[in-house]
Amino acid sequence: MTRRARWADETYQGIVRTGFRVKRRLFKKRSPFQLVEVVETAGHGRLLLIDGMTMVSERDEFVYHEMIAHVPLFVHPRPRRVLVIGGGDGGSVREVLRHAGVERCVLAEIDPVVVEASRRFLPGTASGLSDRRCEVRIGDGVRFVRETAERFDVVIVDSTEPFGPAKELFGPAFYKDVRRILTKDGIVVSQAGSPFYELSTIRNLGRILRPIFPVTDAYLFTNLTYPGGLWAFTFASKGPRPVKDLKPARVRAARLPLRWYAADVHAAAFALPPFVRKALGR
Ligand code: SAM
Repeated sequence: MTRRARWADETYQGIVRTGFRVKRRLFKKRSPFQLVEVVETAGHGRLLLIDGMTMVSERDEFVYHEMIAHVPLFVHPRPRRVLVIGGGDGGSVREVLRHAGVERCVLAEIDPVVVEASRRFLPGTASGLSDRRCEVRIGDGVRFVRETAERFDVVIVDSTEPFGPAKELFGPAFYKDVRRILTKDGIVVSQAGSPFYELSTIRNLGRILRPIFPVTDAYLFTNLTYPGGLWAFTFASKGPRPVKDLKPARVRAARLPLRWYAADVHAAAFALPPFVRKALGR
């Protein structure tokens, strides 16, 4: 993003550029890890950018956060303890805590500046961070899963792209540690990038997850602000199957105030086009 521009431009992989009309710049700070910015846009509400890449827009963040949280939480038979890695904006935590059965949600975020900026400028997204069931742990998520003695029913990897501080979150050692800290029916879902622009991320995560977990899959969602619009998550579990073990009656009974996630949207998200299925080795 250039300093005096009235547009916040995200250049992705040097081949495509998305611009958001800026009304006001609200926050800009370089942390030891990355450049964190919040701008007020003309059409997308407030936007959180990290190193010039769009992380959250107020207009459509519900899509990403509902899909990263409710898919594993409605597949798991009884999720009580949840770990979110990354996700310092708080959107994933907010969705996790909509589940009345969740007793504890730990957020392991490496960068306190992301949490600070989100609490100040994205209060609707960050609201869950103040819930008494949430513990914010500032530190490397890779180290947290390596060292923690806690066990979790669901792990949500809500990370930046696979470079910089997030690089190891896309490696096999990390996922072996995730398996160790997951309970019997444990599930892990991970942000897996754009199928159009970085199919290699889904392919690599698939290769890493298959030998570690008996159930692996991926699911898609569309959104407004990430390059290419179509985006992916991976799903891996110690047993629960992502579509067969979903109980639509349980989703209906929960009566959560959601705008994107629903049982039929959940099932449809796992219908993968052949080019994505092939990348997953299926
Ligand atoms: N929804 C987003 C997206 O895909 O565009 C993800 C947003 S969230 C703000 C990503 C967070 O992951 C960032 O705040 C970043 O600091 C954090 N992160 C990156 N590497 C990490 C690590 N090793 N441990 C914990 N958090 C990490």
